[in-house]
Amino acid sequence: MYMDTCIPLPLEQEVLDDVVDKAKDWALMHGVGMRRKDNFSKESLSFAPFLLLPSTFPRAEFDRSLKLQTLLNELVHRVAHDYDFLHQSLSNACKVDEFTRRLFEIYDTVRQEGVAQEVSMGLLRSDYFFDEPRNSVKQVEINTIASSFGALSTVLVHAHRYILAELGHQDKLERLPDNNALQGLCGGMLKAWSIYGRDSAGILFIIEDVTYNICDQRFHEFEIRKMNPNVKVLRKNLTEIGARGIIDSEKRLLIDGVEIAVIYFRSGYAPEQYHSELEWKARLLMERSLAIKCPSIHYHLAGSKKVQQELARPGVVEKYLNNLEDIESIKGIFTGLFPLDRNEAGDQALNMALQNPNNYVLKPQREGGGNNIYGDDIREFLMKIKDSDERSAWILMEKITPPLQRNYMIRPTLKEPMFTDVVSELGIFGVIIGDATNIMVNELSGHMLRTKVCSANEGGVASGLGALDSVYLE
Ligand code: ADP
Ligand code: MG
Ligand code: MG
Repeated sequence: MYMDTCIPLPLEQEVLDDVVDKAKDWALMHGVGMRRKDNFSKESLSFAPFLLLPSTFPRAEFDRSLKLQTLLNELVHRVAHDYDFLHQSLSNACKVDEFTRRLFEIYDTVRQEGVAQEVSMGLLRSDYFFDEPRNSVKQVEINTIASSFGALSTVLVHAHRYILAELGHQDKLERLPDNNALQGLCGGMLKAWSIYGRDSAGILFIIEDVTYNICDQRFHEFEIRKMNPNVKVLRKNLTEIGARGIIDSEKRLLIDGVEIAVIYFRSGYAPEQYHSELEWKARLLMERSLAIKCPSIHYHLAGSKKVQQELARPGVVEKYLNNLEDIESIKGIFTGLFPLDRNEAGDQALNMALQNPNNYVLKPQREGGGNNIYGDDIREFLMKIKDSDERSAWILMEKITPPLQRNYMIRPTLKEPMFTDVVSELGIFGVIIGDATNIMVNELSGHMLRTKVCSANEGGVASGLGALDSVYLE
């Protein structure tokens, strides 16, 4: 079924051409930008792919997901501090998945040595589709590392208000909810910086070797500098930290002579980002240090797909939250999640997937998009691994089916806007800071909307099928 669009579509060709030109320039001039993968240059930016109009999202379900965020923050925080649960949940996956195993080894190492910094920070993003058959938002996943697009989403809502006004729909502007994700996320980093408590210490962004999503990252950097001009922001990749990072006798992390109070990872979530032992050394060094990490290693692990699946087992959320109503509201956003280990439960899930592969998504312990398996490929893949322990590295998830709507997708690589059927994925940001016994900060901090061509399995913004969007409440 189709959702109503915010204004009647299609637009007349002349009107469309004019507003698309304006929208592209608006995006470029306000920093809704990215570097080009096909033509990388530090001297230029393209606008980030976006939808010409904000996409409709049901108001009650939007409100519901906002209201849930502080509960989810708390849940992730408590799960991250439950060593036994993380160990049990991930032990089979660690046997066959080297990346997860190495992360867990770092966790074990710092636990044995004694954790230097008890305080962790989560800048989380919980992602949802509105599931049409069940008329309810369902959680796709929760990200505990490198949750991006908070900044670009904060800017883009103003582009959409401008565009709607240009098209003569000023009366609709109030239906676009304010979004202060950037301020919330940066405010969180500055609170962590204050908790660390050294005026001369800086905030370190761990970045990729080549950053395409530069505007989103720089907006965070500039916002921090604006909120507190005394706080230095450094950008380094894992290789640089491995080569030049040190910890002193008080376990303070220093890079090029600057003490680091807070580490914000925008990289380090994928095996390819660890080229050699040097990058692993960097991750361990940071984890051993007194710097407050976003995320610390147990937070990173708590965001894994396997943990998400284990949390959906009956009785598990109950271990971490007390209020019955809270527990029910969290469980209400879960959809079918199944382990695939080589045992009876795993065989059952495997057979379900073989029978109806199109009802499921197969997910490994990875982040960053492009890792899942869909449709008939699921059958082929499962037949290949069904007699191997490799199964434990994967989980099976019921497919969520969002309603379609029409919109114009605008991409720097396309001459004309693409008028097409799309679906939208809502992301809600949260900030949490605390240690095993005490939560110091627990906040909702804005949202984002990412919209993809409906026929695409995934909608990575850089990959060619997804684009940034804003929420239009219906
Ligand atoms: P990643 O950590 O790589 O982002 P996700 O679990 O978010 O992994 O999956 C990537 C994308 O795959 C999502 O953004 C969504 O488009 C699609 N996807 C994931 N799970 C589901 C699901 N259960 N139903 C429908 N689509 C899904
Ligand atoms: Mg993710
Ligand atoms: Mg995702």
